[in-house]
Amino acid sequence: MGENVTFKCLRCGHEFCGVYDTDVERMCPKCRSNSVRRVKDKPAPPAHPPKK
Ligand SMILES: [Zn+2]
Repeated sequence: MGENVTFKCLRCGHEFCGVYDTDVERMCPKCRSNSVRRVKDKPAPPAHPPKK
């Protein structure tokens, strides 16, 4: 049973939904690249305070 998450293609920037499954290699449906990364639902807070 997988988790439904959003993926983003690092190659063309296309975002798509899919089931997060470690057994299945993720592939961009647009450009067929496997350089796909999972996008978290909530925007990530800044990891570091802004420098001046
Ligand atoms: Zn793509």
